[in-house]
Amino acid sequence: MDSSGHQLHIFVFPYMAHGHMIPTVDLAKLFALRGLKATIITTPLNAPLISKTIQRTKGLGVDIDIRTLKFPSVEAGLPEGCENVDSVTSHDNGSFELIFRFNKATTMLQEPLEMLLQECQPDCLVADLLFPWATDAAAKFGIPRLVFKGTCFFSLCTLECIRLYEPQKKVSSDSEPFVLTNVPGEIKLTRKQLPDGLRQDFDTDYSKLMSEIVESELKSFGIVVNSFYEVEPAYVDYYRKVLGRRAWPIGPVSLCNRGIEDKAQRGNEASISENECLKWLDSKKPNSVIYICFGSMVNFNASQLIEIARALEASKQEFIWAVRRDKKNQEDEEDWLPKGFEERMGGTGLIIRGWAPQVLILDHEAIGGFLTHCGWGSVLEAITSGKPMVTWPVFADHFYNEKLVSEVLHIGVGVGVKEWVAVHGEHVKSEAIETAITEVMVSGQAEEMRRRARKLGEMARKAVEEGGSTYFNLNDLVEELRT
Ligand code: UDP
Repeated sequence: MDSSGHQLHIFVFPYMAHGHMIPTVDLAKLFALRGLKATIITTPLNAPLISKTIQRTKGLGVDIDIRTLKFPSVEAGLPEGCENVDSVTSHDNGSFELIFRFNKATTMLQEPLEMLLQECQPDCLVADLLFPWATDAAAKFGIPRLVFKGTCFFSLCTLECIRLYEPQKKVSSDSEPFVLTNVPGEIKLTRKQLPDGLRQDFDTDYSKLMSEIVESELKSFGIVVNSFYEVEPAYVDYYRKVLGRRAWPIGPVSLCNRGIEDKAQRGNEASISENECLKWLDSKKPNSVIYICFGSMVNFNASQLIEIARALEASKQEFIWAVRRDKKNQEDEEDWLPKGFEERMGGTGLIIRGWAPQVLILDHEAIGGFLTHCGWGSVLEAITSGKPMVTWPVFADHFYNEKLVSEVLHIGVGVGVKEWVAVHGEHVKSEAIETAITEVMVSGQAEEMRRRARKLGEMARKAVEEGGSTYFNLNDLVEELRT
């Protein structure tokens, strides 16, 4: 409430991909737990997933609601029922064609969103970075628009410096490294690691979207970032003080579930029960299991999955492997496993076909490492749980996140992927995967990496507690919205 007794009402509008929806819904919970009224805006097919996620907040007296907007999938040339990028990538053969169409469909949501703004008269609109038109929509109703960014400050600084200072830089080939001179540390990148919009051969639709995003951010009230100060202080300071951007680090948002005991219910319905998963983990020694998961969008083909299986077998490590596979070729369900793999592995491996309860798994003491595609949500969840990583970036901001993990925080070892290739990723041989797994799980430096990761996990928890940096930032943001 403000001094006049008015309860601040905040609209929270996540982009319809699990990697965006999960942290944005957590953010809505955070606002609601601070006494604000939070309304989550989504589409009909995504609404049930979100309502499951917020179910356990019901008894806590928090004011959190969901409103839906019809999604024009068919009008935008998408298969019927495609309302989440998860379902788009499984129809798409690794090209970004359907994702572009999906993004086009989201622009058609501006008008219905404005009708809802008219009806509900909220005090603020928090919308995903991929909805650049949301700044104008909020402006029509005289309310602030906040941009939600599910990435780290390290990647924000890098991207911004590339945009501002580097485009003219001449490099002789796409794979020749260039060093960013304007960000703290010596960040080496190649053009092949940049998001498409910044490459010289970029697609015009995509580069248009990128420039709209930048423009809408500059006009917005500011940016909320799912990160915390202590994990990347130099980059938070650089972004705010040197680049002069208004930004609030309010993460790790996944910690909002502490006390709600909701670790297993995030995003999709898990393909394994909480009990079965915990029973398996409880039977293992501390730090003995590697967890493998590539987020909600990356689907590998059978030959890549076979390489992963071979690496796991050769590494002799116990594992939990969440497998999402390319849906093109499903005649033989199990053609992606080497012959007799599961029988040979017996109790040493748990394969989850589909959606894993990731935070529940990462938080368990049996987990000693995480093989990840470096989506920021996954990286931050691993940091929060104090777990070192085997890094396997695929596309988008993954390469920057990998650099933060391995070169700045020193809590990860890469499998050696050097450039992004599209949703299916680059083919990586089992030997490279096995070497990186062994380094993170059992090499001489494993214990030191684990110690550093644990310390960061403790810092994350302190940040969200009363008096911590995130707690302070969230208070500061709410105060600014009140005035
Ligand atoms: N996730 C999960 N189970 C899975 C796959 C993903 O809970 O089997 C969650 C994960 O905890 C994270 C999100 O989905 O919160 C993935 O976000 P991230 O940014 O890591 O990657 P993206 O899916 O956007 O590529």
